[in-house]
Amino acid sequence: MTVARLALCKILSSHLPRLHLPSAFSSASRQMSIAAALKNSSIFRSQGLIGGNWIGSHDGKTIQVNNPATGEIIADVPFMGRQETSDAISSAYQAFHSWSKLTAAERSKYLRKWYDLLMSHKEELGQLITLEQGKPLKEALGEVGYGASFIEFFAEEAKRVYGDIIPATLNDRRLFVLKQPVGVVGAITPWNFPLAMITRKVGPALACGCTVVVKPSELTPLTALAAAELALQAGIPPGVLNVVMGNAPEIGDALLSSSQVRKITFTGSTAVGKKLMAGAAGTVKRLSLELGGNAPCIVFDDADLDVAVKGTLAAKFRNSGQTCVCANRVLVQDGIYEKFAEAFSKAVQNLQVGDGFTEGVVQGPLINEAAVQKVESFVQDAISKGAKVILGGKRHSLGMTFYEPTVVTDVRSEMLLAREEVFGPVAPLLRFKTEDEAIHIANDTNAGLAAYIFTNNVQRTWRVSEALEYGLVGVNEGIISTEVAPFGGVKQSGLGREGSKYGIDEYVEVIFDAVN
Ligand code: ADP
Repeated sequence: MTVARLALCKILSSHLPRLHLPSAFSSASRQMSIAAALKNSSIFRSQGLIGGNWIGSHDGKTIQVNNPATGEIIADVPFMGRQETSDAISSAYQAFHSWSKLTAAERSKYLRKWYDLLMSHKEELGQLITLEQGKPLKEALGEVGYGASFIEFFAEEAKRVYGDIIPATLNDRRLFVLKQPVGVVGAITPWNFPLAMITRKVGPALACGCTVVVKPSELTPLTALAAAELALQAGIPPGVLNVVMGNAPEIGDALLSSSQVRKITFTGSTAVGKKLMAGAAGTVKRLSLELGGNAPCIVFDDADLDVAVKGTLAAKFRNSGQTCVCANRVLVQDGIYEKFAEAFSKAVQNLQVGDGFTEGVVQGPLINEAAVQKVESFVQDAISKGAKVILGGKRHSLGMTFYEPTVVTDVRSEMLLAREEVFGPVAPLLRFKTEDEAIHIANDTNAGLAAYIFTNNVQRTWRVSEALEYGLVGVNEGIISTEVAPFGGVKQSGLGREGSKYGIDEYVEVIFDAVN
């Protein structure tokens, strides 16, 4: 029995006890059955959340949520705009007064309960992610664990928002530093991690006493709404967490122009991040930005080939290449280039493509047609400039938005594949001769989020990882994100850090009291 089918049976037995499914049903009908079962589960919501109430848009407009693997409509959600966002801001502003006055221990208990509920609904949340985002179920379940870990971590961290006592400059003075919540936070999140990008922001915000208006991606709002439902079930008071979606620029403008919103936290494209940064100037808001990357993955001659292949595969192909920390350029040293290209292509060839509910599938569809067209144009650009496709290089025979896992050699720095994020399952291999050359190529970009190096030379490990202008560096490792470490970029990859003890600093003001 597949994992998906096991999970489906669990949902069906708890929510639709009388529905019997034939043992061998097709992938499409299985997905429809999963969707039907999920719609009857206690976490399924398809309206916005404002002040603890589930509501539609004021004019009744809706927007469809589709399954990228089949194109089927999963649900309609409200197409909200300025008015609903203003209502959500007012609710968050009102709730701030009482939420911020709770003790850290009280807020911690609410978050812990929310974490427990997220984990006890892991299967349904994972299925929702696969359904609306397309990633394989196993990866989706991994995201639930990863996403929930931020709520657990910040439930604990809530109790450790320490201030300071500064030795006074005058005998009769006492100087104190307090950390206080910034206030109402607007959190705008993308579709590639429908749960984790929300919990990574909401966890620290709620922990230190802020309240939040979340705007998830319109492509994947159902996971956000399910997580919000679980927050309500955990007893988190109405108005502390609000969710609106629909007209993204209008919602963004409403958040930016409100003087009650004191902070914007955003994960998404660099272009939108820059707009938000400019827009935040009007009301001088705090800002955290997690923007695009252009991750180099450097394989040195002295690397362990198996480790390098495994690590590069993970760094490149997770979520079908649709993450901002995915390896975007694989830089391989001259002496190992041919061997690496061969071993890597073999490994890529074994990646099974298909709908995320099928057992064994590790590559799902791309999020939409625009994403496939972008990948196609980047590959074409590389071919026209002399690169060679040694594996894949076209749409998958499955149709829809499936694209073949692809390896391209002879890629050079001036090609689009090396200059911009491809955000798809294409691995461009560039060749370099010396360590200095690799560092130069790696840093020759405006982005600076994640970088990876593969080497067995200890001195080189320190030298190169410190010379790379990146916020995160993985050494002999392709997956490095964890709730306990600071995640964030340098240069145009963003501002601020998420996760870890540093993550909560983004949501507090440092207040100084001088007492005579
Ligand atoms: P991607 O290309 O990965 O979808 P985007 O930056 O377009 O990245 O989207 C990330 C998030 O930003 C989504 O929730 C999207 O709806 C939102 N968004 C897009 N444009 C705007 C805007 N002008 N103002 C506020 N949010 C926006």
